[in-house]
Amino acid sequence: MAVAPIQPLDVLKSVGIKSAEENAADLAALETDLAQRIETRRTEHGTVTIAELPDEIALTDVHDSYGRHINYLRISLTDVCNLRCVYCMPEDMKFRPTKELMSDDEIILLTKVAASLGVTKIRLTGGEPTIRPNVVEIVRQIAETPGIKDVAMTTNGLMLDKLAQPLADAGLNRVNISIDTVDPEKFHQLTRWGDIADVWRGIDASEKAGLTPIKLNCVVVRNFNDEDVIELARLTMEREWDVRFIEMMPFGEVSDFQQTNVVTFREIREMVESVFGPLEEAGYDFVDPSRPYKIPGAKGKLGFISSVTEPFCQGCGRVRFTADGKLRLCLLRDDEVDLLTPLRAGATFDEIRKLMADGSFHKPWGHGLADGVFANNRAMNQIGG
Ligand code: SAM
Ligand code: SF4
Repeated sequence: MAVAPIQPLDVLKSVGIKSAEENAADLAALETDLAQRIETRRTEHGTVTIAELPDEIALTDVHDSYGRHINYLRISLTDVCNLRCVYCMPEDMKFRPTKELMSDDEIILLTKVAASLGVTKIRLTGGEPTIRPNVVEIVRQIAETPGIKDVAMTTNGLMLDKLAQPLADAGLNRVNISIDTVDPEKFHQLTRWGDIADVWRGIDASEKAGLTPIKLNCVVVRNFNDEDVIELARLTMEREWDVRFIEMMPFGEVSDFQQTNVVTFREIREMVESVFGPLEEAGYDFVDPSRPYKIPGAKGKLGFISSVTEPFCQGCGRVRFTADGKLRLCLLRDDEVDLLTPLRAGATFDEIRKLMADGSFHKPWGHGLADGVFANNRAMNQIGG
Protein backbone atom coordinates (compact mmCIF):
# COMPACT_ATOMS: atom_id res chain seq x y z
CA MET A 1 0.00 0.00 0.00
CA ALA A 2 1.43 3.39 -0.95
CA VAL A 3 1.26 5.92 1.85
CA ALA A 4 2.16 9.57 1.40
CA PRO A 5 5.21 10.50 3.48
CA ILE A 6 4.52 13.03 6.20
CA GLN A 7 6.81 15.97 6.88
CA PRO A 8 9.65 15.42 9.38
CA LEU A 9 8.36 15.94 12.89
CA ASP A 10 9.74 18.63 15.16
CA VAL A 11 11.39 16.03 17.29
CA LEU A 12 13.63 15.08 14.37
CA LYS A 13 14.98 18.57 14.12
CA SER A 14 16.72 18.08 17.44
CA VAL A 15 18.91 15.36 15.94
CA GLY A 16 19.79 17.50 12.96
CA ILE A 17 17.09 16.40 10.55
CA LYS A 18 15.73 19.69 9.35
CA SER A 19 14.02 18.95 6.09
CA ALA A 20 14.44 16.12 3.64
CA GLU A 21 16.58 18.30 1.31
CA GLU A 22 18.76 19.87 4.00
CA ASN A 23 19.26 16.53 5.60
CA ALA A 24 20.21 14.85 2.33
CA ALA A 25 22.88 17.53 1.76
CA ASP A 26 24.22 17.16 5.32
CA LEU A 27 24.32 13.43 5.06
CA ALA A 28 26.03 13.46 1.66
CA ALA A 29 28.78 15.68 3.14
CA LEU A 30 29.14 13.37 6.15
CA GLU A 31 29.31 10.30 3.93
CA THR A 32 31.98 11.83 1.68
CA ASP A 33 34.02 12.83 4.72
CA LEU A 34 33.64 9.40 6.29
CA ALA A 35 34.56 7.66 3.03
CA GLN A 36 37.80 9.64 2.95
CA ARG A 37 38.58 8.86 6.58
CA ILE A 38 37.83 5.19 6.06
CA GLU A 39 40.23 5.11 3.11
CA THR A 40 42.94 6.88 5.13
CA ARG A 41 42.48 4.45 8.01
CA ARG A 42 42.74 1.47 5.69
CA THR A 43 45.91 2.65 4.01
CA GLU A 44 47.68 4.21 6.99
CA HIS A 45 46.54 2.46 10.15
CA GLY A 46 44.60 -0.71 9.31
CA THR A 47 41.22 -0.59 11.03
CA VAL A 48 39.57 -0.75 14.42
CA THR A 49 39.06 2.18 16.64
CA ILE A 50 36.12 2.90 18.80
CA ALA A 51 34.50 6.24 19.30
CA GLU A 52 34.85 8.03 22.63
CA LEU A 53 31.58 8.51 24.43
CA PRO A 54 30.71 12.18 24.78
CA ASP A 55 30.54 13.48 28.36
CA GLU A 56 26.82 13.92 28.07
CA ILE A 57 24.52 11.98 25.79
CA ALA A 58 21.30 13.78 24.98
CA LEU A 59 18.30 11.46 24.69
CA THR A 60 15.80 12.19 21.96
CA ASP A 61 13.14 10.37 19.94
CA VAL A 62 13.18 9.41 16.28
CA HIS A 63 10.16 8.95 14.08
CA ASP A 64 10.42 7.74 10.52
CA SER A 65 9.02 9.60 7.52
CA TYR A 66 5.64 7.90 8.07
CA GLY A 67 5.49 9.03 11.69
CA ARG A 68 6.28 5.63 13.21
CA HIS A 69 8.17 5.88 16.49
CA ILE A 70 11.47 3.98 16.20
CA ASN A 71 11.91 2.57 19.67
CA TYR A 72 12.68 -1.12 19.25
CA LEU A 73 16.04 -2.57 18.20
CA ARG A 74 16.85 -6.19 17.45
CA ILE A 75 20.52 -7.02 17.63
CA SER A 76 21.93 -10.10 15.95
CA LEU A 77 24.79 -11.23 18.19
CA THR A 78 26.10 -13.73 15.66
CA ASP A 79 25.07 -15.32 12.38
CA VAL A 80 26.31 -18.72 13.62
CA CYS A 81 23.88 -21.30 14.93
CA ASN A 82 24.01 -24.71 16.56
CA LEU A 83 21.01 -25.85 14.42
CA ARG A 84 20.13 -25.59 10.71
CA CYS A 85 16.33 -25.20 10.60
CA VAL A 86 15.08 -25.95 7.10
CA TYR A 87 13.15 -22.66 6.84
CA CYS A 88 16.08 -20.55 8.01
CA MET A 89 19.27 -21.57 6.27
CA PRO A 90 20.85 -24.16 3.99
CA GLU A 91 22.64 -27.08 5.63
CA ASP A 92 26.02 -26.00 4.23
CA MET A 93 25.59 -22.37 5.39
CA LYS A 94 28.84 -20.36 5.36
CA PHE A 95 29.28 -18.03 8.32
CA ARG A 96 31.16 -14.75 8.46
CA PRO A 97 34.67 -14.57 9.92
CA THR A 98 34.61 -13.25 13.49
CA LYS A 99 36.54 -10.12 12.59
CA GLU A 100 33.65 -9.02 10.37
CA LEU A 101 31.19 -9.21 13.27
CA MET A 102 30.62 -6.49 15.84
CA SER A 103 32.91 -6.89 18.84
CA ASP A 104 31.42 -6.71 22.35
CA ASP A 105 32.52 -3.07 22.70
CA GLU A 106 31.05 -2.18 19.33
CA ILE A 107 27.71 -3.76 20.23
CA ILE A 108 27.57 -1.77 23.44
CA LEU A 109 28.57 1.49 21.79
CA LEU A 110 26.00 1.08 19.01
CA THR A 111 23.38 0.22 21.62
CA LYS A 112 24.21 3.49 23.39
CA VAL A 113 23.76 5.34 20.09
CA ALA A 114 20.37 3.66 19.63
CA ALA A 115 19.31 4.46 23.20
CA SER A 116 20.27 8.09 22.69
CA LEU A 117 17.82 8.10 19.77
CA GLY A 118 14.90 6.83 21.81
CA VAL A 119 15.26 3.05 21.56
CA THR A 120 13.95 1.60 24.81
CA LYS A 121 13.43 -2.06 23.89
CA ILE A 122 16.14 -4.46 22.80
CA ARG A 123 15.81 -8.02 21.55
CA LEU A 124 18.93 -10.12 21.16
CA THR A 125 18.80 -12.66 18.40
CA GLY A 126 20.94 -14.26 15.72
CA GLY A 127 21.91 -16.89 14.50
CA GLU A 128 21.79 -18.32 17.97
CA PRO A 129 22.49 -15.56 20.52
CA THR A 130 23.29 -17.92 23.38
CA ILE A 131 26.38 -19.27 21.62
CA ARG A 132 27.97 -15.82 21.45
CA PRO A 133 30.95 -15.78 23.84
CA ASN A 134 30.33 -13.29 26.70
CA VAL A 135 26.58 -13.22 26.07
CA VAL A 136 25.87 -12.76 29.79
CA GLU A 137 28.20 -9.76 30.04
CA ILE A 138 26.75 -8.26 26.85
CA VAL A 139 23.25 -8.56 28.35
CA ARG A 140 24.45 -6.93 31.57
CA GLN A 141 25.92 -3.94 29.78
CA ILE A 142 22.91 -3.50 27.51
CA ALA A 143 20.54 -3.69 30.50
CA GLU A 144 22.61 -1.02 32.27
CA THR A 145 22.52 1.36 29.29
CA PRO A 146 20.61 4.52 30.22
CA GLY A 147 17.27 4.62 28.39
CA ILE A 148 16.99 0.84 27.87
CA LYS A 149 13.92 -0.45 29.71
CA ASP A 150 13.41 -3.92 28.33
CA VAL A 151 15.86 -6.60 27.18
CA ALA A 152 14.52 -9.79 25.62
CA MET A 153 16.00 -12.63 23.59
CA THR A 154 14.85 -14.93 20.81
CA THR A 155 16.62 -18.27 21.08
CA ASN A 156 16.30 -21.92 20.13
CA GLY A 157 16.56 -22.64 23.85
CA LEU A 158 19.21 -25.37 23.64
CA MET A 159 21.61 -23.55 25.98
CA LEU A 160 19.03 -22.12 28.38
CA ASP A 161 19.27 -25.01 30.80
CA LYS A 162 22.60 -23.53 31.88
CA LEU A 163 22.20 -19.90 30.84
CA ALA A 164 18.64 -18.88 31.83
CA GLN A 165 19.52 -17.96 35.42
CA PRO A 166 22.79 -16.11 34.66
CA LEU A 167 21.03 -14.20 31.88
CA ALA A 168 18.14 -13.27 34.17
CA ASP A 169 20.62 -12.17 36.84
CA ALA A 170 22.37 -9.99 34.25
CA GLY A 171 19.12 -8.17 33.42
CA LEU A 172 17.39 -10.20 30.70
CA ASN A 173 13.62 -9.80 31.11
CA ARG A 174 12.06 -12.38 28.79
CA VAL A 175 12.72 -15.07 26.21
CA ASN A 176 10.98 -16.24 23.06
CA ILE A 177 11.90 -19.85 22.40
CA SER A 178 11.56 -21.46 18.99
CA ILE A 179 9.89 -24.87 18.92
CA ASP A 180 8.02 -25.87 15.79
CA THR A 181 6.64 -29.26 16.82
CA VAL A 182 6.28 -31.36 19.96
CA ASP A 183 7.26 -34.51 18.05
CA PRO A 184 10.93 -35.39 18.78
CA GLU A 185 11.47 -37.05 15.39
CA LYS A 186 10.04 -34.12 13.42
CA PHE A 187 11.98 -31.66 15.55
CA HIS A 188 15.12 -33.54 14.61
CA GLN A 189 14.18 -33.32 10.90
CA LEU A 190 13.16 -29.65 10.95
CA THR A 191 16.29 -28.52 12.74
CA ARG A 192 18.43 -31.11 10.88
CA TRP A 193 19.89 -32.53 14.13
CA GLY A 194 18.30 -30.94 17.23
CA ASP A 195 17.17 -32.85 20.33
CA ILE A 196 13.83 -31.55 21.57
CA ALA A 197 14.63 -32.63 25.15
CA ASP A 198 17.17 -29.78 25.30
CA VAL A 199 14.44 -27.27 24.42
CA TRP A 200 12.06 -28.54 27.12
CA ARG A 201 14.87 -28.26 29.67
CA GLY A 202 15.55 -24.71 28.44
CA ILE A 203 11.88 -23.73 28.77
CA ASP A 204 11.77 -25.15 32.27
CA ALA A 205 14.93 -23.29 33.32
CA SER A 206 13.60 -20.05 31.84
CA GLU A 207 10.38 -20.29 33.82
CA LYS A 208 12.32 -20.96 37.01
CA ALA A 209 14.53 -17.95 36.29
CA GLY A 210 11.47 -15.73 35.84
CA LEU A 211 12.05 -15.02 32.13
CA THR A 212 8.29 -14.79 31.66
CA PRO A 213 5.84 -14.68 29.99
CA ILE A 214 7.39 -17.50 27.98
CA LYS A 215 6.61 -17.13 24.29
CA LEU A 216 7.04 -20.10 21.99
CA ASN A 217 7.68 -19.33 18.31
CA CYS A 218 6.46 -21.89 15.76
CA VAL A 219 7.17 -21.40 12.07
CA VAL A 220 4.63 -23.46 10.15
CA VAL A 221 5.96 -25.33 7.12
CA ARG A 222 3.67 -27.24 4.77
CA ASN A 223 4.22 -30.99 4.83
CA PHE A 224 6.69 -30.69 7.71
CA ASN A 225 4.78 -29.50 10.75
CA ASP A 226 1.44 -28.07 9.59
CA GLU A 227 -0.47 -30.82 11.41
CA ASP A 228 1.49 -30.13 14.59
CA VAL A 229 -0.22 -26.80 15.19
CA ILE A 230 -2.92 -28.68 17.09
CA GLU A 231 -0.58 -30.17 19.69
CA LEU A 232 1.32 -26.89 19.96
CA ALA A 233 -1.94 -24.99 20.53
CA ARG A 234 -2.96 -27.59 23.12
CA LEU A 235 0.07 -26.61 25.24
CA THR A 236 -1.74 -23.38 26.14
CA MET A 237 -4.58 -25.28 27.86
CA GLU A 238 -2.41 -26.10 30.87
CA ARG A 239 0.48 -23.64 30.69
CA GLU A 240 0.59 -19.86 30.76
CA TRP A 241 2.62 -19.80 27.59
CA ASP A 242 2.04 -17.72 24.46
CA VAL A 243 2.26 -20.05 21.48
CA ARG A 244 2.80 -17.94 18.36
CA PHE A 245 2.39 -19.30 14.85
CA ILE A 246 4.59 -17.56 12.31
CA GLU A 247 4.05 -17.52 8.56
CA MET A 248 7.25 -18.60 6.87
CA MET A 249 8.94 -15.67 5.11
CA PRO A 250 11.09 -15.89 1.97
CA PHE A 251 14.78 -14.91 2.13
CA GLY A 252 17.87 -15.25 0.02
CA GLU A 253 18.92 -18.69 -1.16
CA VAL A 254 16.05 -20.62 0.44
CA SER A 255 13.24 -18.37 -0.81
CA ASP A 256 11.85 -20.90 -3.32
CA PHE A 257 11.38 -23.47 -0.59
CA GLN A 258 9.80 -20.87 1.68
CA GLN A 259 7.34 -19.60 -0.91
CA THR A 260 6.22 -23.08 -1.93
CA ASN A 261 5.68 -24.24 1.64
CA VAL A 262 4.19 -21.22 3.39
CA VAL A 263 1.01 -21.92 5.40
CA THR A 264 -1.13 -18.81 5.79
CA PHE A 265 -2.45 -17.34 9.01
CA ARG A 266 -6.03 -18.12 7.89
CA GLU A 267 -5.23 -21.78 7.24
CA ILE A 268 -3.51 -22.14 10.61
CA ARG A 269 -6.39 -20.48 12.42
CA GLU A 270 -8.93 -22.72 10.63
CA MET A 271 -6.94 -25.83 11.59
CA VAL A 272 -6.87 -24.78 15.25
CA GLU A 273 -10.56 -23.80 15.29
CA SER A 274 -11.57 -27.09 13.65
CA VAL A 275 -10.40 -28.85 16.82
CA PHE A 276 -10.87 -26.29 19.63
CA GLY A 277 -13.83 -24.27 18.31
CA PRO A 278 -13.91 -20.50 17.72
CA LEU A 279 -10.97 -18.62 19.27
CA GLU A 280 -11.54 -15.64 21.53
CA GLU A 281 -9.74 -12.39 20.79
CA ALA A 282 -7.33 -11.61 23.62
CA GLY A 283 -6.53 -7.90 23.23
CA TYR A 284 -4.65 -6.26 20.40
CA ASP A 285 -1.70 -3.94 20.48
CA PHE A 286 -1.00 -2.51 17.03
CA VAL A 287 2.75 -2.33 17.66
CA ASP A 288 2.89 -6.06 18.39
CA PRO A 289 3.28 -8.21 15.27
CA SER A 290 1.44 -11.07 16.97
CA ARG A 291 -2.37 -10.99 17.07
CA PRO A 292 -3.41 -12.59 20.34
CA TYR A 293 -6.24 -15.13 20.72
CA LYS A 294 -7.27 -17.69 23.29
CA ILE A 295 -8.81 -21.11 23.21
CA PRO A 296 -11.82 -20.69 25.56
CA GLY A 297 -10.75 -21.83 29.04
CA ALA A 298 -7.03 -21.99 28.20
CA LYS A 299 -4.39 -20.64 30.60
CA GLY A 300 -2.10 -19.36 27.85
CA LYS A 301 -2.61 -17.51 24.59
CA LEU A 302 -2.19 -18.16 20.90
CA GLY A 303 -0.66 -15.59 18.58
CA PHE A 304 -0.55 -15.31 14.80
CA ILE A 305 2.28 -13.51 13.07
CA SER A 306 1.03 -13.06 9.53
CA SER A 307 3.99 -11.16 8.06
CA VAL A 308 3.39 -12.52 4.55
CA THR A 309 -0.37 -12.43 4.00
CA GLU A 310 -1.51 -9.72 6.43
CA PRO A 311 1.50 -7.58 7.34
CA PHE A 312 1.54 -5.25 10.33
CA CYS A 313 3.79 -2.52 8.94
CA GLN A 314 1.73 0.41 10.25
CA GLY A 315 2.81 -0.31 13.83
CA CYS A 316 6.41 -1.26 13.07
CA GLY A 317 8.93 0.78 15.05
CA ARG A 318 11.61 -1.90 14.71
CA VAL A 319 15.08 -1.61 13.27
CA ARG A 320 17.88 -4.16 13.44
CA PHE A 321 21.63 -4.41 13.78
CA THR A 322 22.91 -7.30 11.71
CA ALA A 323 25.80 -9.21 13.27
CA ASP A 324 28.17 -7.40 10.89
CA GLY A 325 27.02 -4.01 12.09
CA LYS A 326 24.54 -2.84 9.46
CA LEU A 327 21.40 -0.98 10.45
CA ARG A 328 18.69 -3.01 8.74
CA LEU A 329 15.52 -1.02 8.24
CA CYS A 330 12.98 -3.73 7.36
CA LEU A 331 13.27 -7.47 7.87
CA LEU A 332 12.01 -8.15 4.36
CA ARG A 333 13.89 -5.51 2.38
CA ASP A 334 17.57 -5.22 1.59
CA ASP A 335 17.88 -1.55 2.69
CA GLU A 336 20.77 -1.20 5.16
CA VAL A 337 23.06 1.51 6.52
CA ASP A 338 26.61 0.45 7.34
CA LEU A 339 27.48 1.62 10.87
CA LEU A 340 30.42 -0.65 11.64
CA THR A 341 32.75 0.50 8.86
CA PRO A 342 32.50 4.18 9.85
CA LEU A 343 32.79 3.23 13.52
CA ARG A 344 36.01 1.31 12.83
CA ALA A 345 37.29 4.19 10.75
CA GLY A 346 37.05 6.62 13.62
CA ALA A 347 33.63 8.19 13.18
CA THR A 348 32.56 10.01 16.32
CA PHE A 349 29.60 9.04 18.48
CA ASP A 350 27.61 11.94 17.03
CA GLU A 351 28.43 10.98 13.46
CA ILE A 352 27.26 7.41 14.01
CA ARG A 353 24.22 8.83 15.73
CA LYS A 354 23.43 10.93 12.69
CA LEU A 355 23.81 7.96 10.34
CA MET A 356 21.44 5.94 12.49
CA ALA A 357 18.91 8.76 12.88
CA ASP A 358 18.88 9.38 9.16
CA GLY A 359 18.66 5.67 8.30
CA SER A 360 15.76 5.23 10.73
CA PHE A 361 13.97 8.22 9.25
CA HIS A 362 14.15 6.51 5.86
CA LYS A 363 12.75 3.19 7.07
CA PRO A 364 10.64 1.84 4.19
CA TRP A 365 6.89 1.60 4.73
CA GLY A 366 6.58 -2.16 4.38
CA HIS A 367 7.64 -5.20 2.46
CA GLY A 368 7.09 -5.75 -1.25
CA LEU A 369 6.34 -9.49 -1.32
CA ALA A 370 3.04 -8.93 -3.14
CA ASP A 371 4.97 -7.16 -5.91
CA GLY A 372 7.60 -9.90 -6.07
CA VAL A 373 10.23 -7.88 -4.15
CA PHE A 374 12.22 -10.19 -1.85
CA ALA A 375 15.08 -9.63 0.54
CA ASN A 376 17.88 -11.34 -1.31
CA ASN A 377 21.06 -10.20 0.34
CA ARG A 378 20.84 -12.32 3.49
CA ALA A 379 19.29 -15.44 4.99
CA MET A 380 17.22 -15.10 8.17
CA ASN A 381 20.09 -16.07 10.49
CA GLN A 382 22.21 -13.23 9.08
CA ILE A 383 19.52 -10.62 9.63
CA GLY A 384 18.39 -11.55 13.11
CA GLY A 385 14.69 -12.42 13.04
N1 SAM B 1 18.15 -19.00 16.75
C1 SAM B 1 17.14 -18.26 17.40
C2 SAM B 1 15.80 -18.93 17.26
O1 SAM B 1 15.67 -19.81 16.42
O2 SAM B 1 14.88 -18.55 17.97
C3 SAM B 1 17.06 -16.82 16.99
C4 SAM B 1 17.24 -16.50 15.54
S1 SAM B 1 15.93 -17.03 14.50
C5 SAM B 1 16.47 -16.46 12.94
C6 SAM B 1 14.64 -15.92 15.00
C7 SAM B 1 13.24 -16.37 14.67
O3 SAM B 1 13.09 -16.36 13.26
C8 SAM B 1 12.90 -17.76 15.14
O4 SAM B 1 11.69 -17.74 15.86
C9 SAM B 1 12.73 -18.54 13.85
O5 SAM B 1 11.78 -19.56 14.00
C10 SAM B 1 12.28 -17.46 12.92
N2 SAM B 1 12.53 -17.75 11.50
C11 SAM B 1 13.64 -18.26 10.92
N3 SAM B 1 13.48 -18.35 9.58
C12 SAM B 1 12.24 -17.90 9.31
C13 SAM B 1 11.47 -17.73 8.11
N4 SAM B 1 11.96 -18.05 6.93
N5 SAM B 1 10.24 -17.21 8.22
C14 SAM B 1 9.72 -16.87 9.42
N6 SAM B 1 10.38 -16.99 10.58
C15 SAM B 1 11.62 -17.51 10.53
FE1 SF4 C 1 19.33 -21.44 14.06
FE2 SF4 C 1 17.26 -20.02 14.86
FE3 SF4 C 1 17.81 -20.27 12.25
FE4 SF4 C 1 16.94 -22.37 13.59
S1 SF4 C 1 15.81 -20.47 13.23
S2 SF4 C 1 18.69 -22.34 12.19
S3 SF4 C 1 17.79 -22.10 15.56
S4 SF4 C 1 19.03 -19.24 13.72
